[in-house]
Amino acid sequence: MAPRVVVIGLASDFGCQVQMTNIEDHLLEVLGLIDLTYWQLASSGHMPDEYDVAIVEGAATTQEHLDLLRRVRETAGVVIAIGSCAVTGGISAIANAAGIEEGFALVYGERGRVALGRVAPASVVSVIDVDYIVPGCPIDTDEFLHVLSRALHGLRDKTPRQPMCFACKTRENVCFFEKGQLCLGVVTRSGCHARCVTLGRPCTGCRGIAPEANLPAARIVFEDHGFDAERALSYISLYNTNEEVVL
Ligand code: SF4
Ligand code: SF4
Repeated sequence: MAPRVVVIGLASDFGCQVQMTNIEDHLLEVLGLIDLTYWQLASSGHMPDEYDVAIVEGAATTQEHLDLLRRVRETAGVVIAIGSCAVTGGISAIANAAGIEEGFALVYGERGRVALGRVAPASVVSVIDVDYIVPGCPIDTDEFLHVLSRALHGLRDKTPRQPMCFACKTRENVCFFEKGQLCLGVVTRSGCHARCVTLGRPCTGCRGIAPEANLPAARIVFEDHGFDAERALSYISLYNTNEEVVL
C-alpha cells in the first residue's frame, strides 16, 4: 500500500505549499509513490484520522495548532517540517522579538488572549520531534523532493549542517564583507547553492543557523568588518527567533 500522506498548513502565507505546486515536472512521479489523502491548500475535505506521513508548513500560533501537532506526532510514522516558519520560526515568529505578549495584552487584554487561544508563535520543530526538515523561505522544490524521497525510502535525514560560505566560494562570488555589507552566509545552513548571494543580494539567513557554524568566529568576522554583535543578531533574528543564538 502506498504511504498515506497529509499536507498541513499552520500559520504561514502558504508559500511553501505553493512551491510544492511548482514541481509539475515531477508531480506525477511523486503522486505515483504516495497516496495523497489530504492537502490543505488544494482540498476542501477533512483531514483523515490515520496517515503515515505528515508534511507540516507554518508555525504554531494557537492552542489548536499545538494540540494538532501533538496529534500529528502520535499518528504519523514520519513528520516532515517544511519552510523556515516550521523549522526555525521564520517570518511567523518575528512577533516574538517584537514583544508579542505585550501586544496581545495591549490589544485584547489577558482575558481576550486566552479566549482567542493565541500562543507565542513557535516552530513545529520546537513543539514536537520531527524526522526530516526542509529549511528555507520558501523551500527549494528539488530539496523537498529529495527529502520526501529519502523519507519514503526510510533513509535518514541528510540536511546540510555546515554554513553557506563554502558553497558561495564554489560559485566564485565576491564576498559581501569585502564590499562593506553584512551577509549571514557565515552562520546560515547551506543547501540553497548560495542563491541570493549569487543573484547579488546578501544572505538574510532563511535556512536558519547551521549546526556546524562557528558562532564565536562569526562574531569576529562581523566585528572585523564593522558590524557589532547586536546588529548581527538583529539580522539573524529575522528567521531565527525560536532559537537562542549567542555570538
Ligand atoms: S559571507 Fe556571504 S558573500 Fe561572503 S562568502 Fe559567505 S555567503 Fe558568500
Ligand atoms: S542565500 Fe540565504 S537568504 Fe538566500 S535562499 Fe540561501 S539561505 Fe536563504
